[in-house]
Order: sequence, then C-alpha cells, then structure tokens
Amino acid sequence: MEPSLPHNSSTLSHWHRTTRSFPHLHANRLNTVPAAATYVIIGSGISGALTGWELIKSGVKGDEIIILEAREAVSGASARNAGHIRPDSFRGFPGYATTHGSEQARKILENERTVLKNVHEFVKQHNVDCDFKYTTTYEVAISEDFVELLSTAFTAFKAAGGDVSHIQFHEGEKAKQKTGVPTAICAYESPAASNHPGKLVQWILNDFIQKGGKLWTHCPATKVGPAQAGASKVGGTIAAKNVVHCTNAYAAYLLPELKHFISPRRSQVNSFTPRLSLSGEYAPAHTMALRYSPDHFFSVNTLKNGTILFGGTGTRGENDVDKEFERATFDDSKYSETLARNSSREFDGISRELDSVPLRHGEGFDYAWTGIIGTTPDNAPLIGAIDGLPGQWICAGFNGHGMAHIFTCAPGLAKLVLGKSWKETALPECFQFSKERITQYSDLHVKARI
Ligand SMILES: Cc1cc2nc3c(=O)[nH]c(=O)nc-3n(C[C@H](O)[C@H](O)[C@H](O)COP(=O)(O)OP(=O)(O)OC[C@H]3O[C@@H](n4cnc5c(N)ncnc54)[C@H](O)[C@@H]3O)c2cc1C
Repeated sequence: MEPSLPHNSSTLSHWHRTTRSFPHLHANRLNTVPAAATYVIIGSGISGALTGWELIKSGVKGDEIIILEAREAVSGASARNAGHIRPDSFRGFPGYATTHGSEQARKILENERTVLKNVHEFVKQHNVDCDFKYTTTYEVAISEDFVELLSTAFTAFKAAGGDVSHIQFHEGEKAKQKTGVPTAICAYESPAASNHPGKLVQWILNDFIQKGGKLWTHCPATKVGPAQAGASKVGGTIAAKNVVHCTNAYAAYLLPELKHFISPRRSQVNSFTPRLSLSGEYAPAHTMALRYSPDHFFSVNTLKNGTILFGGTGTRGENDVDKEFERATFDDSKYSETLARNSSREFDGISRELDSVPLRHGEGFDYAWTGIIGTTPDNAPLIGAIDGLPGQWICAGFNGHGMAHIFTCAPGLAKLVLGKSWKETALPECFQFSKERITQYSDLHVKARI
C-alpha cells in the first residue's frame, strides 16, 4: 500500500455533524504558514492536540508551537471513532504476551486503565463539555469458543500478577440480564467511559489556541526535510527545531521508512436511534463488546443522549464480511451497506420490541461513517524520538484503540521532547520507537514477498 495524505472527500461522522460551529474548524485556512517555529506538530487529532497542550502546560510558550492539519480540525480518526474509552481489562493479554512478553503485556493493560483515569480527571478538572459518561462495560461472549478464550486470557493475566479486582464475572441468566443481550453466554464487567471525542479534542485545541498555540488547517505537510527538519506546504516552508509526527495511519507519507510498519485500515461506525425498549428509563447505561470470535465482534457504545453506536469489525463470522471494504485503504469517503445491515441486525437483537411493532420514522438505523485506523504489526503504538532523524518525534500507530492509549502517550511524548527520559514517561517500554523494531517487521514483510 503506497502511503498517502488523508482523503479530501471523507465522510462526516456523528461527531463532525454535531460540531460544525467549532470556531477553529478552518483556522488559518487561507493564510501563509509562519516562517519558523520551535515545535511543528503534524496532525490535529487527539495525539497532536494533546501533545501541543502538554508542551504549553510544561512551560513552552504557545507561540512557539504550530499544529498543521491537512483537512479541517480533528478530521481524522479522533472524531470518527465510536466514542468509547474502553480499557482492555485482560482480553488482549495472551496476544501481547506472545509478542512482547508477559511483563510488557501487563504494563500495556495497566496503562489503559491509567488512561481512563486520566481522561476522567482531565474532563472533571477542566469541566470539559464532551458528554463524558463514566460507566461500566461488558465483554460479552456470544460463542462457546469465545467463552474459552476469555477464560484463558483472564487466568493468564491473573497468573502474571495482573490486578483483576475491578473485573466481575457473570454467566447464564445473570449475564443476559446484566447486559440485556439474550444470546450472552457470559460477560466480564469492568469500568469504561463514553464521550463525544470531537468535543473533547476541540476543547483541547481551543484551550491550546487560547494559550497562544497556533493551528493551521487545510494545510498538509508535504515534506519534512532532514537538514533543518522543516515541515512545508505548497506556498510555504517552516523552519522548525522539532517536528512531531501525530499523523497516525498517514505517518508513512512523511516517513517512508514506516511503510511496512504503520498500515491503514478502514473502520466503520453505525448510529442508531433507540426504540421504546432501549430509551427513557430503559436506556442502557452500560457499554459492551459483543464477541463472536477474535476477528468478529461489535462494539456497542451508548451515548449520554441515548444514541447507540455499533462499531468494531461489525461482523459475526466469515459470511458477514465485506471483502472490498476490508482491504487496506486511505479512503474514508464511503461506508459499507453490508456492515450497516449487520449492525442493524445486532441492534434488533438487543431491542426487545415485538416484531409486530413497526419502526417509527426516525427510529432505528440513522447514519454510518468511516475512518482510517493506523495498525502496527506488533500491536503497540510508536512513541518517541525517531532514530536517525534528529529533532523528529512520533506519537502514532494506535491500532484502533487510541482513546485508551493517547492520554498517557501524548503527555509522555511531550516529556521526551522536553528532554526527559523514557522512564519518566511511565509508558510500557515496548511502545518506544526504535530502528530495530521497524527493521524487524519491514524485513519480515520483504521476506514474505520473495
Ligand atoms: C471508525 C473508528 C472507530 C474507532 N473507535 C474507537 C473507540 O471506540 N475507542 C478507541 O479507543 N479508539 C477508537 N478508534 C481509534 C482512535 O480513534 C484512534 O486511535 C485515535 O483517534 C488516533 O488519534 P491520532 O490523533 O493519533 O490520529 P488522528 O485522529 O487520525 O489524527 C491524525 C491527523 O493527522 C492529519 N494528517 C495526516 N497526515 C497529515 C499531513 N501530512 N499533514 C497534515 N496533517 C496530516 C489527519 O488529517 C488527522 O487529522 C476508532 C477509529 C476509527 C477510524
């Protein structure tokens, strides 16, 4: 897959459609970029916005930082996701342990818990209006295979010293009753949150700008020169001391060495307006993941306003998939009708209406949108100084799980940029950028093609 800039005709998400009056949406669209900046951050998603905000918090003057965004503000995955801040409480442990060892795997999961706590505190402390709802989430097993997988993962995580005190297990009728899913076999309950990610990131950007930070939208960085590490656009070049790549799925466009490390994957979210059985006093407070198998699942987020979002792979099994939709692509300009239909079926499954009660106009499936996830071959994000490119930094590769990562990764990166050690970031060591990490997987890719 050839690296690319973001698609210029992307879908609008529910979050985009409900925040069209954000005053900085098209900030500096028609203005030439400044000639110089101490810090140029590329990307205005949660990684870029929070890195800029953290730099200011640490004492950097706002006017020394400029964020460049290729499209309108927060137009990437950060305002296209399912709005779920859902730490993986144990499920991914075996996979991470196989790749990174059990200590790192435990740290990855512990980090996700810290992220939830950090976002919660941030929203409370700054009174951020982003429809934040701290709640409980269920990992719901719908197949016997998945019951087994969850049980193995739970046991392995616990045996490795993982804290499971915040996880509760339900099975049989209790699982059905707690989750409201008639086909649930068992469910693991743990804390999570739902939010309006567009409003969250816009709040951060707004505060960044109020403190003097600069944002240039509709301004793709087309080249970063190694000598002066300057980010440029047609009609303008910025001489910068530090360039921070917060471009997630698009990182390889400016850093071709990542071509085989960060890959794009399209993902879809489907929005539903609940019927009587899931609204008012019956509106579910909890969120869920309905797991048919590791590759086939639906994430179910319930928003503060009662809207229900279905994301995840949006499939139950091989017969459900949309092969054309699944191919690697940077195109977020369309959505899959198959995946929307699959989610409609799951939505009907958890609605307890009688078949004889017809849908009212405005109820049921409302809207679908897509976004591009940045995946990495070892399932860990890429954070830190870029070896061989002095003054360049990266915070990217969140594998569709950035809301549960970035509130530690971006502050961690800001510390590194300001000269602190990796230890002071408190991030899992396996997140750190290293040439060896990139080379290992690029070599595998080349071998696979021979
Ligand atoms: C459909 C979908 C559902 C998801 N659901 C969830 C979820 O429920 N929970 C969860 O934890 N995570 C979820 N994710 C993942 C999560 O949204 C991401 O991990 C996170 O938003 C990544 O943030 P970011 O700032 O690193 O990247 P982005 O938000 O993608 O920001 C990167 C920005 O860089 C800009 N850019 C790229 N190249 C350039 C360039 N050369 N010049 C200028 N600008 C450039 C892009 O336009 C973009 O705005 C989902 C993702 C998708 C797509």
